[in-house]
Amino acid sequence: MAKIETLRDLLIDELMDLYNAEQQLVKALPKMANAANNEDLKDGFTEHLAQTEGHVERLEQVFGLLEAPVKGKKCKAMEGLIAEGEEKIDEDASATLKDAALICAAQKVEHYEIAGYGTVRTFAEVLGYDDIVSILQETLDEESETDETLTAIASSINAELQP
Ligand code: FE
Ligand code: FE
Repeated sequence: MAKIETLRDLLIDELMDLYNAEQQLVKALPKMANAANNEDLKDGFTEHLAQTEGHVERLEQVFGLLEAPVKGKKCKAMEGLIAEGEEKIDEDASATLKDAALICAAQKVEHYEIAGYGTVRTFAEVLGYDDIVSILQETLDEESETDETLTAIASSINAELQP
């Protein structure tokens, strides 16, 4: 991306970060689903994989509306979050503890996305791009729902871990 001179430039730059982040997640979520032991958690990851593929498509739609190239920019934060998730996958821990660790990693990912989508949604609002605001809001809502689902699954897993 060239120099950032306007809010529109910054919006596109952040969208490119999210586009790459979502693509990285599409590759990582099947591994998370595989590593999960709890059935609800496994299903949750699989369901969020389908949603994440939709998030990639929505971003492509947004680039189209902005008449900007459909291009990502390496999201170093997602790379790090996924690397931490992979450490959890390889952890030699009991099934339930591993699930608790996977949820922790996944919620860090969701919160990162929520911050990113909240920002681009608001930038689009400020710029008066109403159709883009609604597209980004849809994804933001799905990220928040996923976070809430993970919290609900965590409470039953944590109950099992209570000494
Ligand atoms: Fe997403
Ligand atoms: Fe997500």
